[in-house]
Amino acid sequence: MSRKNILITGASVGGNTVAWWLSRQGFDVTVVERADSFRDGGQNVDVRGAGRDVLRRMGLEQQAMELTTGESGTDWVDEENRVIARFAVEDIGDGPTAELEIMRGDISRIIYEPTQQKARYRFGDHIVKVDEDKTGSLVTFKSGIAERYDVIVVAEGVGSSTRALLFPGEYKMRYLDLTIAYFSIPGKENDGKFARQYNTTGGRGATLKPGSDGNLRVYMGIHKVSEEEQKWGTERQKQFLLDKFAHDGWEFPRILKEIPKVQDFYFDVMRQVKMDRWSAGSVVLTGDAAWCATPLSGIGTTLAIVGGYVLAGELSKTDDHVAAFAAYERIMRPFVKEGQGLPKIVPRLLWPHTRLGLAFLRTVMRLAGTRAVRKIFSTLFLRDSKKVELPDYNLNT
Ligand SMILES: Cc1cc2nc3c(=O)[nH]c(=O)nc-3n(C[C@H](O)[C@H](O)[C@H](O)COP(=O)(O)OP(=O)(O)OC[C@H]3O[C@@H](n4cnc5c(N)ncnc54)[C@H](O)[C@@H]3O)c2cc1C
Repeated sequence: MSRKNILITGASVGGNTVAWWLSRQGFDVTVVERADSFRDGGQNVDVRGAGRDVLRRMGLEQQAMELTTGESGTDWVDEENRVIARFAVEDIGDGPTAELEIMRGDISRIIYEPTQQKARYRFGDHIVKVDEDKTGSLVTFKSGIAERYDVIVVAEGVGSSTRALLFPGEYKMRYLDLTIAYFSIPGKENDGKFARQYNTTGGRGATLKPGSDGNLRVYMGIHKVSEEEQKWGTERQKQFLLDKFAHDGWEFPRILKEIPKVQDFYFDVMRQVKMDRWSAGSVVLTGDAAWCATPLSGIGTTLAIVGGYVLAGELSKTDDHVAAFAAYERIMRPFVKEGQGLPKIVPRLLWPHTRLGLAFLRTVMRLAGTRAVRKIFSTLFLRDSKKVELPDYNLNT
């Protein structure tokens, strides 16, 4: 069987996983990343169910477990940080806090580092043109470089520009009406090992998560219709948060004081990517570029790792990449459907606007935190991270 010349765009979790597997099967792999160097940023992400199975097959599960954030579980708290409901990892396993909760940069790096010795990585470049013919594609990059490839894997995340170039009008965004910001602030000794979820009225809330480096990870969320705030500049985004939470108590005064100084500021509008097909000719999409489920699903990183494995496995089975793409899509569709199957009512319930809504949420949480319903609650609100039959491709590792 001939070993194809593969271009992967995007050197994050999805792209690195495809590159990890394909480069070990003898494919000639080039990874092109738009950023000038490997992107280490991001906050806590979860690897669950089938994602952990793939990491195990890669021999990386142990390394990932050693890098977990050490979060013991999630507490729903009130204004005084009094616990309304507790979901401890030791009680329920993969609940609101996953057993394998890791910094995004760490999970991406442990896949990237061994791969960089087997695949070519080029940073600070991206695709501007693709001319496809019967034998593959001539790809022109921003740098002016032009190269031929048999297959192009697009793993550029939710805002992918190559998707816009090659699949115009073929993707829809499903907005979840949630604007979020992630960043770190200095931790304090009494921050503890549990994540704290706090909600107030006006669709506003935040989660504080302990970091292994002594910093506290802050996730702020506002339930509102999108104004495409992800396109604003960082200073405007920061000011937006300062204004929205200016008069709030709890830990907000401490958080707002740090916001102007924050370096690792990540701000986005939660939106899912919906597409009727993930490939055309020799081009295939994977990870968030194909199916972003949003951090609310809890399985975005899992989907990217599993998608990378399945895509590489199918490409390794046959010379016919069109058949491989079809098989990949057949296997991944139900899993992605599960990941994206979050009713829009969920963010609305979890980020209440009124005092009555807040009282209702806290009552539900109090009930959900009792031993009898804890597990059922987790099953209802979390996506099923095992809803995929992982094929055994007998691949080199
Ligand atoms: C810096 C960063 C921080 C993040 N922080 C969090 C977080 O805190 N919590 C969370 O739940 N999720 C976070 N995410 C998203 C999370 O990584 C993904 O949801 C998930 O892991 C799926 O990964 P992916 O590889 O499909 O996409 P992504 O992780 O989004 O990666 C896409 C990659 O493609 C690159 N890229 C974009 N456009 C191009 C282009 N045209 N050409 C070449 N490369 C391109 C990007 O720079 C990025 O490296 C973050 C992503 C990034 C990039």
